[in-house]
Amino acid sequence: MTTRNDCLALDAADPLARLKDQFSLPDGVIYLDGNSLGAMPKATAARVQQVIAQEWGQDLIKSWNTAGWMDLPSRIGDKIGRLIGARPGEVIVADSTSLNLFKVLSAALRIVKADRPGRTVIVSERSNFPTDLYIAESLAEQYGATLTLVDSAAEIPAHLNDSLAVLMLTEVNYRTGARHDMRAVTAAAQAAGALTVWDLAHSAGAVPVDLNGANADFAIGCGYKYLNGGPGAPAFVWAHPRHADRFWQPLSGWLGHAAPFQFSARYQPAAGIKRYICGTPAILSTAALECGVDTLLAAEPLGGMTALREKSLALTDLFARLAEERCGTLGVTVVSPRDAASRGSQVCLALNDPLTEAGYAVIQALIERGVIGDFRAGDPARLDQVPHILRFGFTPLYVGFADVWDAVEHLHQVLSTEQWRQARFNQKAAVT
Ligand SMILES: *Cc1c(COP(=O)(O)O)cnc(C)c1O
Repeated sequence: MTTRNDCLALDAADPLARLKDQFSLPDGVIYLDGNSLGAMPKATAARVQQVIAQEWGQDLIKSWNTAGWMDLPSRIGDKIGRLIGARPGEVIVADSTSLNLFKVLSAALRIVKADRPGRTVIVSERSNFPTDLYIAESLAEQYGATLTLVDSAAEIPAHLNDSLAVLMLTEVNYRTGARHDMRAVTAAAQAAGALTVWDLAHSAGAVPVDLNGANADFAIGCGYKYLNGGPGAPAFVWAHPRHADRFWQPLSGWLGHAAPFQFSARYQPAAGIKRYICGTPAILSTAALECGVDTLLAAEPLGGMTALREKSLALTDLFARLAEERCGTLGVTVVSPRDAASRGSQVCLALNDPLTEAGYAVIQALIERGVIGDFRAGDPARLDQVPHILRFGFTPLYVGFADVWDAVEHLHQVLSTEQWRQARFNQKAAVT
């Protein structure tokens, strides 16, 4: 049985532990929601202040050239590329995850239409993040395609046939933390003649990703989760070089033009991934994103994503094990995959009958105690398959082993004292 002292010893021996110093986290908080909104790097406030006071305030419009504003989307894209197995020049930062998905899915559909006409099916998972499904639904209608949703990864192979145009998946599921084998799934989809679009929202900065190694077709991801870019941070987009120049992306804006300052009346897309830029980048939030990405690159001398992944697996394994050992008899079940290769950097718990509906209140009670996770409602019609979930993200940059122990201790107390029944924990807020 693991004790709190064992956890303190693990923290003392952890060379990554000092990376927590990069973050400004409130005292007494165990932050297990970096999968939803990454913590704030200390460097961010000073950097944004510099952009405001000096670059904007003093240097005004000159800063597009002199402060490198124009290059920010590519420069930060290259840094993100180091985390996801993309080469320099293959990634740019722009817009939101939803918008970037719209661009790449549209491009993928156009490529398939040109190369293999007659393929009109987009396959995804019903459990994918809703925005991904909504964007696909809209594009399916525009392109005369069909969106087919599977209920589990095991059903995917049955859809790898000659009507499949695009397989669109999120590598790590936002609810359960279940992770696809990107390399194997990509190879299978391509062998069936289809293209793949990967959403890396819960992968970039959380698990090692090798887009080129996996020979993926398109990928997009989020700036404000594990990349610590700040609320609503710009997202990123990658297209394999064999596809990047094939078609216009649908949001053909002026900054994706080959020569924006010729102000030509006709669109001529920039070469490569730069055409995936639409309009003027949001410099304040893009500058903040760079500080977030830098917190991950700071791990490079310590083993980079491989070392972070190793710690993340140790943290998630410990949390799952302690939650079962200490809270199993209080109604807690671990619903994330236990097999290391099949999970991301989060652990999800469900509560058994008669506590099935208590999840939201339990999370609220934990938050009051300083243990911040979140709640994701299940499907009321299929609670047996899609239960209400208590979701805990583990960011190895700033979460330690004693934090895991303490979080489970708080969970134990909330459940054993039935503290969650108190009325204030049962009032639903807009964001859960
Ligand atoms: C968080 C997340 C998004 C967020 O999209 P936004 O456009 O930033 O709101 C999209 N897809 C997945 C899979 C996510 O987890």
